[in-house]
Amino acid sequence: MAKQTKSKSKKTESRKTSIKKDQEKKPENKSIPFDETEEFIEPEESEEEIIVEKIVSEDVQQWQPKTELGRLVKEGRIKNIDEILSQGKTILEEEIVDALLPNLSSELILVGQAKGKFGGGQRRVFRQTQKKTEEGNKPHFTTVAVVGDYDGHVGIGIGKAKETVPSREKAIRKAKLNIIKIKRGCGSWQCHCGEHHSVPFRVVGKCASVELELIPAPKGNGLVINKELAKVLRLAGVKDVWGKSRGKTKNKINHVAALWDCLLKMSEMRITNEQSKSLGIVDGTFSIANELANDEILANEPNEEAN
Ligand SMILES: [Zn+2]
Repeated sequence: MAKQTKSKSKKTESRKTSIKKDQEKKPENKSIPFDETEEFIEPEESEEEIIVEKIVSEDVQQWQPKTELGRLVKEGRIKNIDEILSQGKTILEEEIVDALLPNLSSELILVGQAKGKFGGGQRRVFRQTQKKTEEGNKPHFTTVAVVGDYDGHVGIGIGKAKETVPSREKAIRKAKLNIIKIKRGCGSWQCHCGEHHSVPFRVVGKCASVELELIPAPKGNGLVINKELAKVLRLAGVKDVWGKSRGKTKNKINHVAALWDCLLKMSEMRITNEQSKSLGIVDGTFSIANELANDEILANEPNEEAN
């Protein structure tokens, strides 16, 4: 606490005094070894402004697929990503996702924090770590990216590199490869509308000490959950939810990983047709799920008659 009060008093002094004194102070700070890292952080501010961006898939037309799955997608034999995901095939090329989900957008999660000046501690997109070597400090940057189409598909990826831009690219690429379809529905007893605006049932996810519980909420409730986790759920297409977490949630990577655990558990849960009707469960995109359900009904009807 004593340190904080000191830094506050310094701030007020620097505001009151002229700019000259600030210039005098800077060389003093440079003697501190931690100040070297600030040179890396400052130019990133312009990048952080563009947190939400649409991924343009211009490269898809020039793409030459290397895997069997990629060839099928390029030829147009597979048109829905739900076909690939329901078969449990692994996606090894990011262009597959680009081609099948053209409306994909990405967002970065604030996992790091600023150092040094004015107390530091502000949340940043890049988590910066250092290795001490004989040649000097070697910084590394970690980023967590989320991609989603606001309609039942979402992916999370972690990227780590020596510079900021490659780490972000890595994270987005991994997020695309990790894409899953999630179950949406209305599991709230207060609402029970049978639409797909919330989660269909309670789930508990874990990562390290962090434990997160997703609870279905009625319509109009909004995402009552940590801001960074709300980013993921918004991209996934969930509109109303209650979140309840415990453990060291300050570690955002673990917090997000707990949410990912929740979503995975929810997507892997097996559900009967009656349950999916009463809770209004939609698996993946709404229209595609409807088509698939209709196909199943058509396929099942003649069998029932035969029995
Ligand atoms: Zn509802």
